[in-house]
Amino acid sequence: MKSEERMKKILLLPGDGIGPEVFGPVQGILEHLVKSGHALLEWEDGLIGGIATDRTGFPLPPETVEKADRCDAVLLGAVGGPKYDTLPYDKRPERALLGIREHLGAFANLRPARLFPELSGSSTLKPEVISDLDLMVVRELTGGIYFGKPRGIVTEEGIRRGINTETYTEPEIDRIMRVAFDLARKRRKKVTSVDKANVLESSVLWREVAESVHKKYPDVELSHMYVDNAAMQLVRNPKQFDVLVTGNLFGDILSDEAAQLTGSIGMLASASIGGKTGLYEPIHGSAPDIAGKDIANPLAMILSLALLFRYSLDREDLAGFLETSVRNVLKEGYRTTDIRGDGTKKIVGTREMGEKVFLELKKVLENK
Ligand code: NAD
Repeated sequence: MKSEERMKKILLLPGDGIGPEVFGPVQGILEHLVKSGHALLEWEDGLIGGIATDRTGFPLPPETVEKADRCDAVLLGAVGGPKYDTLPYDKRPERALLGIREHLGAFANLRPARLFPELSGSSTLKPEVISDLDLMVVRELTGGIYFGKPRGIVTEEGIRRGINTETYTEPEIDRIMRVAFDLARKRRKKVTSVDKANVLESSVLWREVAESVHKKYPDVELSHMYVDNAAMQLVRNPKQFDVLVTGNLFGDILSDEAAQLTGSIGMLASASIGGKTGLYEPIHGSAPDIAGKDIANPLAMILSLALLFRYSLDREDLAGFLETSVRNVLKEGYRTTDIRGDGTKKIVGTREMGEKVFLELKKVLENK
């Protein structure tokens, strides 16, 4: 622990479905880090998603927002479920996700897609295409077509029309580009900006601003790629990418595609940064099909906690210890069913996988 470190506070929002299950190991890890003197931390729980609607009538209750404002970082499980699918739009659990991201000003979503070598057999791609894969998708999160106005469904002369608007301002593009270039500087110094500038004016501006921000980062290489080509290149030759930066809609799609390269959605963490408080969550949803069965993979959740230490608490050391612990458990052959691959190893459930990582972390901390 750094001697000048101040007490940091985390808000824990397990949410719905497998959210509370994959959250299982988190509390124990935090408690151990505090007890063993590795971190000055406190935390509190909050409600979000369907469970929040059930208990308060709101998917994102004002109390949760107030708690988030008092914290340095928010760790979220997942929200949603079939029970809530028929609710009006503003009561839907997914609305809480957009709401909290917007409130926190978390405009940059980072999704690292890194393949643990132990899992190269779990990917649908050939090992030579994905071995040592390590790319970062930077998705703009608070602008673009998901928020643009006008939006809605209107009826004109008896014909219904659905409307959404793709819109980006220069400052919005400028700040996301800076995040991408700053990250690239700490990696392999390569940014690929993805757009559809052959068709969309918002993409023409996107490309212009990318070029102008690039002038301040002459040590980083910048290239541009149309989104359709990027979707193809991600499965053809994903190792050509280092940092891939794109808008909200394209990023939503490409980051899931990148995620699948590494085997399972249950392995992938994300960070949403840019505001005062960062938001950290696995990229998967509440997985109602497997909820309550003790088979969900908790590693994406644990790796999200690692990102929280890295980006919000400035504790690269703790992020590294957690990632090493996950890697060691995989090396020992433990797998949840989603990452079992060929020639099965030791299959464990959600709880047992969490315990294995916790025990491994204790060892890693003792031997450091
Ligand atoms: P999902 O990510 O919940 O599930 C997709 C598939 O991946 C399912 O087969 C599921 O069993 C599997 N899966 C997901 N996480 C897993 C894990 N940790 N371990 C093993 N397998 C895992 O996506 P979906 O089915 O499209 O959505 C289900 C609900 O989640 C919906 O209500 C949706 O709106 C919501 N959702 C929430 C978030 C979020 O909270 N960030 C993200 C996406 C979807």
